[in-house]
Amino acid sequence: MFNLILFGPPGSGKGTQSEKLISKYGLKHLSTGDLLRSEISRQTPLGMEAKNFMDKGQLVPDEVVIGMISSALDENAEAKGFLFDGFPRTSAQAEALDNLLELKKTNIAVMLALDVSEDELVKRLLKRGETSGRSDDSNEQVIRARIVEYRTKTEAVADYYRRFDKVVMVKGEGGIDDIFNSLSLEIDNRL
Ligand code: ADP
Repeated sequence: MFNLILFGPPGSGKGTQSEKLISKYGLKHLSTGDLLRSEISRQTPLGMEAKNFMDKGQLVPDEVVIGMISSALDENAEAKGFLFDGFPRTSAQAEALDNLLELKKTNIAVMLALDVSEDELVKRLLKRGETSGRSDDSNEQVIRARIVEYRTKTEAVADYYRRFDKVVMVKGEGGIDDIFNSLSLEIDNRL
């Protein structure tokens, strides 16, 4: 199995690059944001709980997303590997993921971290909000709150993987295909 984490702040292009990477490498895409939005649209109890946090730009509690990822791993036991997008977002989630993968006798090969300036992030998210129908993208205050959550809780996740020498920074500004090529190069070096 080859498992990777695509890391970076909201609006750094994780979703766009994930789509291209899963089709090139045959990985299973696990996006906690997508999984949570699917729970919301199906109006499940989990979705209803998560929505309160997401609408404010706050992280959903760890036990909720960890449980969701644990089920997704079990449901996709045959996968060649996983691309984690938007997860882990806290140190507790990172530790839980390591434990879950260890039970399956596998691990994280690499964390690819997209680097994008804050001004560019806000610009991209507001633009996405015009068409995505995502309410958390159409309000600048909610966008800023998500970036604060990222800086205060999520950035430390990179330090966690740095201890194991698994983090590679990739420039996340420029053409979509150029960024994709940089990411692919790092994956090819590790396959
Ligand atoms: P973005 O990265 O653009 O903010 P996502 O779709 O990844 O978009 O996440 C949207 C929202 O879903 C986040 O603001 C947060 O409330 C919630 N969320 C997604 N993944 C996680 C996670 N791993 N832990 C906690 N909350 C999460």
